[in-house]
Amino acid sequence: MSPKILLAEDQPMNRKLFREILEVKGYTVVEARDGAEALALARADPPDLVLMDVQMPGMDGLEATRRIKADPITRHVPVLALTAMAMDGDEERVFRAGCDGYLPKPVRIHTLLERVEALVARPKPDGGE
Ligand code: MN
Repeated sequence: MSPKILLAEDQPMNRKLFREILEVKGYTVVEARDGAEALALARADPPDLVLMDVQMPGMDGLEATRRIKADPITRHVPVLALTAMAMDGDEERVFRAGCDGYLPKPVRIHTLLERVEALVARPKPDGGE
């Protein structure tokens, strides 16, 4: 079965772009438009990875990640954060929230796919799906 990626991104153009890039590589993509939606979808059916935009309206990507990592149902799911720009302190904020990695925007397609592939392939802990 193709790995399922939950794509949390508030910008429609970015959602379309990332979906296309991931689907070409055989991933199944589920879309969320903000952190609350991402959290609900992750809990309902934990994906193999969350691609998490940090800057979203309402619940942002870092808060959604904190909640995903605090929930036994979803804590094993890797979260790859997308940050709007590389700024001092970003890295620390992202990792403190529990993200497993991050990529600054604009994202390079090759790098994105490499990181996604590596995190999806990572062995899951006992009790994980
Ligand atoms: Mn955004």
